[in-house]
Amino acid sequence: MNICVKGIIFDIKHYSINDGPGIRTTVFFKGCPLRCWWCHNPESQSRHEEVVIRERSLDGRSFTVEEISGRWVEAEEVIREIEKDGIYYDQSGGGITFSGGEPLMQPVFLLELLKMSKERGYHTALDTCGHVDETVLKQVMDHVDLFLYDLKLIDAEEHLKYTGVTNEKVLKNLILLSDMGKKIIIRIPVIPGITDTPKNITALSNLLTELNGLDRIDLLPYHMIAKSKYQRLNMNYKLEELQEPSLERLKELKEVFEGIGMKVTVGG
Ligand code: SF4
Repeated sequence: MNICVKGIIFDIKHYSINDGPGIRTTVFFKGCPLRCWWCHNPESQSRHEEVVIRERSLDGRSFTVEEISGRWVEAEEVIREIEKDGIYYDQSGGGITFSGGEPLMQPVFLLELLKMSKERGYHTALDTCGHVDETVLKQVMDHVDLFLYDLKLIDAEEHLKYTGVTNEKVLKNLILLSDMGKKIIIRIPVIPGITDTPKNITALSNLLTELNGLDRIDLLPYHMIAKSKYQRLNMNYKLEELQEPSLERLKELKEVFEGIGMKVTVGG
C-alpha cells in the first residue's frame, strides 16, 4: 500500500542560484520554531494557512486582494514539480534545497522528500536554523548532502531575545554535524547592531575555527524589503528604523572570517 505523506509549503522556487551549488529547486516549508526580528519570510513562520493582503493594479487602478499563503501537498506532487528541473541539475551541478521556515518541523514529510530525491540521484541541501531535537536531525542527516546552517547569536540571552528561543540545540546540533563530517555552509545574517557586534563576531569566529567540514561562510546582509510583507500579514515589524549594512561593513566582516581561514561570500 502506498501511504501518501503530506506537508505544508508556501512556495517552490525554480532556477534558484543562491541556495547551494548550481541551479536548484527550492521548496519552502511552512512553520518555524523561531521568531527572528529580521525574518525576511514572515509568511513562513506559522504552520497554518494564512491570509495575505496583496496590492494589485489593473488599468491604472490599484486595489487589494486577499490570498492564502500555504498549501497542503503530497510528497509525490512536490517531487513531480522538482523532476521538471532535473535536466538543469545535471548540467549545473545543482539539486534540491529544502528551506522555509524550518523543514525539520515536518520531519516525516521532509524525510520522504529527501529519500525520493536521493532515489532520483539528486543532490540535496537542507537550510536549517538547527533548533530541533537531535533525534530528528539524526533521522534525516544521511540523506542530506549539504547543510546550509544558520548561525545568528552566540550569547544565549541575546539569542532568546532576538529569536524567541535559546541557542542550546542550535550549537549542539552544529557540533554534532561537524563531528559526523557533514558538509556545511554556515549562513550568518548580518543585522547591524545585533549580530554584527564585535562581541558576537569574535564569539562566532572562535566557534567556527573549532569545526570540521565547513565549506564556506555566507554573510546574508539585512535588507529592508521584508517590511511590506509584515504589513501584508498584519504583523508587527520590530526593526522599522534599522538601516541596511554598508558595503564597507560587509567587506570588514568578510575579511574577519577570511582571517580565520574561511572562504566567505556575501549574499550566499
Ligand atoms: S529561522 Fe529563518 S525562517 Fe525562522 S524566523 Fe528566523 S529568519 Fe525566519
